[in-house]
Amino acid sequence: MPKHETQNKRGFSTRSVHAGEETDPASGSVVTPIYETSTFAFPSTKVLLEVMRRKRKGNIYTRWWNPTSQAAENKIADLESADVGLLFSSGMAAISSMILTVVSSGDHVASMRNVYGATFEFMSEFLPKIDVDVTFIDADRPEEIKEVVRDNTKLVYLETPANPTLKVVDIRAVKRQLGRHQARIAVDNTFATPYNQQPLKLGADTVVHSATKYLGGHADVTAGVVVGDRKFISKVYETRKLLGGILDPHAAWLLIRGLKTFELRMRRHNENGMKVAQFLSKHPKVKEVLYPGLPTHPQHAVARRQMRGFGGMLSFLPKGNGDYASKVIDRLKLIKLAPSLGGVGTLAS
Ligand code: PLP
Repeated sequence: MPKHETQNKRGFSTRSVHAGEETDPASGSVVTPIYETSTFAFPSTKVLLEVMRRKRKGNIYTRWWNPTSQAAENKIADLESADVGLLFSSGMAAISSMILTVVSSGDHVASMRNVYGATFEFMSEFLPKIDVDVTFIDADRPEEIKEVVRDNTKLVYLETPANPTLKVVDIRAVKRQLGRHQARIAVDNTFATPYNQQPLKLGADTVVHSATKYLGGHADVTAGVVVGDRKFISKVYETRKLLGGILDPHAAWLLIRGLKTFELRMRRHNENGMKVAQFLSKHPKVKEVLYPGLPTHPQHAVARRQMRGFGGMLSFLPKGNGDYASKVIDRLKLIKLAPSLGGVGTLAS
């Protein structure tokens, strides 16, 4: 289990550069080396057993953990103000492994209806196959939580802002509505990122990400992460070890490299997102712009309370039908038509 203590005394940008990393003791390298190896050798069975029993520091097998991945995990955990984090081979591997750690057959999940498409499919099609019941709730009615939770509710799952509707849910209000109920609150923080929103400080227990997006930041990595308290993450670790969804060390290194400029990128995303949203909202051929930073957004007040900035993602409805929307996209010059988000180049879908 990776060890990490948060160091919130330092500024966000400094932590983006330095947190989680140490000068390599073997070589003095200032950059975390890529430990591109599937396994680690031991001088004797005695040492192997000591490492396996956690009596001595060491590495065993990359599906269990890897020093490059641990550096990235510690950096992201620090940025999210969490004890520990775990990397996965994609956002969906992180989300599914986290959920499968929390629920067993016979349990119940309350999930926001407007979550990322594959997450919705996992909730609505996969979980019922293992006898887990899911109730969907609306983001703008956190009071619904009180009505839907049951004794066997183990997880309340939120995504804010949500993909692609940009709906915002009041994390503090959900926590308040849950009261003393023991269900864990998990938040997909992909759209906000830890720069703009700190769900653990707002009452969430766990945060998940598609690190493929803003955390990687350069559209060259597919990755996911789960962060939270040490006790829960050690259970998620056992799931990852069994299901095998750990990230490759080279991809973890790319993530570390991308994160060094995270604060700079996010500040610019926030500025640019707001400018594009304001421009589109005044455009005569645009019917509606969905961006939490605009006063016209239905949950703008909540977004202002729980977010520092509003990110670089927006959706808009042109005045016209689906064919007209396709025409708008097909006439874009610099902006590429592609799924995904959070890289340094603008995409549209
Ligand atoms: N969560 C959100 C909000 C997303 O936008 C995505 C992907 O677009 C995912 C999760 C899934 O991430 P991945 O594609 O890395 O599996």
